[in-house]
Amino acid sequence: MDKKVKLYVVVPCYNEEPVLMETSRQMKELFGKMESDGLIGSDSRIVFVDDGSKDKTWDIIDALTKSDKLFAGIKLAHNAGHQNAVFGGLMTVKDECDCAISIDADLQDDINVIPEMVQDFINGYDVVYGVRKKRDTDTFFKRTTAVGFYKLMNFMGVKIVFNHADYRLMSKRALDALSDFPERNMFLRGMVPLVGFKSTSVYYDRNERFAGESKYPLKKMLSFAFDGITSFSISPIRMISAVGAIVCVFAFVMAVYALVEKLLGHTGAGWASLMMSIWFIGGVQLLSVGLIGEYIGKLYKEVKRRPRYIIEAYINEKE
Ligand code: UDP
Ligand code: MG
Repeated sequence: MDKKVKLYVVVPCYNEEPVLMETSRQMKELFGKMESDGLIGSDSRIVFVDDGSKDKTWDIIDALTKSDKLFAGIKLAHNAGHQNAVFGGLMTVKDECDCAISIDADLQDDINVIPEMVQDFINGYDVVYGVRKKRDTDTFFKRTTAVGFYKLMNFMGVKIVFNHADYRLMSKRALDALSDFPERNMFLRGMVPLVGFKSTSVYYDRNERFAGESKYPLKKMLSFAFDGITSFSISPIRMISAVGAIVCVFAFVMAVYALVEKLLGHTGAGWASLMMSIWFIGGVQLLSVGLIGEYIGKLYKEVKRRPRYIIEAYINEKE
């Protein structure tokens, strides 16, 4: 590549007052190094996205942009949430850069693999996933819930990259493709693999948040996991149908059993007919709910209006 890479790094910030100065200092240092190594151009940027913070986050970002043109800032009108902040940031910058990296503000993800990501981009990869090697620094609770989450997602048929969160590089064309996903329930780590293109991973150790607190308390984590599953998979609906079918089979077995018991005279009055109808009706109800669910599932896929395909290359040689 003769032209140097124009790299944009997008950093979502929600009440990150205690970490911003240090984060910007470390990133600036890294950018300086990458520029002098000839990896990126001097028109590269670090873009902070203020996700409706209540503290002085925006004032700091504003001051940073005035102190150095390396820094840029986007202020969201209200707290849109992590996923929307990342997406909004990426979509805002996608037409200005060759590739963009999203990374959290708290430096839990090692910024020193950024040069490696850019190198992979130069080598022709459109998506480079940042993957955590181990989770020593996370609490036992966060670690087990996270691993359980990835397993559950895979079980539900959602393809996500194990131990990858939202630290990744995407090329301009991958970002363009991502912009064609008009869904409102953002779950980026599920969407990006759907975009396709050539992808690879870089591995790093996850650090502890060096200041401030996690903005993902248990409640947000659970709702994030639930969103991830219900935005990507209709297998919970399918499960209802499956249970319904099983109960129907069971109803038949129970009917035979009840009849036999009745004929043998082991039963009180009304027991056999009650037994049969409870199981039968239960099975029919579950099956019906599952059937209605199937249609809702189809509807739900339709309203998402996801692109049906994404073209990676178009070869049409004329004479
Ligand atoms: N964040 C955001 N909006 C929110 C919550 C979080 O932009 O509503 C940002 C936050 O500033 C940080 C990133 O998302 O840069 C990840 O949040 P955090 O580090 O608290 O999550 P954890 O690492 O604990 O999962
Ligand atoms: Mg964090």
